[in-house]
Amino acid sequence: MSKKLEGKTALVTGGSRGIGAAIAKRLAADGARVAITYSRGADAATSVVKTIEAAGGKAIAIQADATDPKAVQAAVDKTVNAFGKLDVLVNNAGTAIPKKFEETTLEELDQVINLNIRGVFIATQAALKQMNDGGRIISIGSCVGERMMTPGLVPYSATKAAIRMFTQGLSREVGGRGITVNNVQPGPIDTDLNPAAGDWATPQKAATALNRYGKVEEVAALVAFVASPEASYITGANLTVDGGTNA
Ligand code: NDP
Repeated sequence: MSKKLEGKTALVTGGSRGIGAAIAKRLAADGARVAITYSRGADAATSVVKTIEAAGGKAIAIQADATDPKAVQAAVDKTVNAFGKLDVLVNNAGTAIPKKFEETTLEELDQVINLNIRGVFIATQAALKQMNDGGRIISIGSCVGERMMTPGLVPYSATKAAIRMFTQGLSREVGGRGITVNNVQPGPIDTDLNPAAGDWATPQKAATALNRYGKVEEVAALVAFVASPEASYITGANLTVDGGTNA
């Protein structure tokens, strides 16, 4: 039996570590040819590509800061040149700077807004020009884009809330091409950005119904489903994978 994403091309921003790396590996395991971008960690990106290739898949890594429109456009062009037109864009690159709002600097505000919102806008614009009908735009938002139970993430949660309306709005514009637009909202997931051990982790773990952090593979599984042909009637949706944090 052929794999669910056989013949499809996917681009995952920030695919060298954490959730993005797991998404890239999962989409490749489901048959997609996968391009990942990264900003600094070339070794980590190469290692994701090697893992995919060792499993019989096809992947490339492209250095492209997600806040730089020219670099992002070049990444889309390289992906299309290497693998053919795009079918799936995963807007995963994102960051948080946990801190009291009053103490957050203007530079830090700009950094979070530029990567988490503007970065999603520019990658999606570049990708849509090269996307096949029936394509998929999937953004990684956050459960805190919907509900907030801890202090210290004010600008971050506001950027993730913006992704919700971006998703809903864009779904109305590209539905005519059969392109779906969805927002996957993880809860606490064990990565470099949000390690499952430490003081910061304790309240997040306690807020889940399952009393544990999630694994990157648990987010990747939902993304792979949304990317698949089976999810063709899901669009404009905010899909939460948070261990019950927002229950
Ligand atoms: P990590 O910090 O662990 O990994 C981030 C990835 O993005 C790395 O591959 C990094 O590559 C890349 N990246 C960072 N900045 C840029 C940039 N400017 N341009 C291109 N790539 C970049 O993060 P997570 O895996 O934890 O998070 C991934 C996404 O999931 C984010 O959008 C985050 O907000 C969201 N999320 C995470 C949760 C969690 O608990 N972990 C919960 C909810 C949402 P490099 O090293 O080269 O910079």
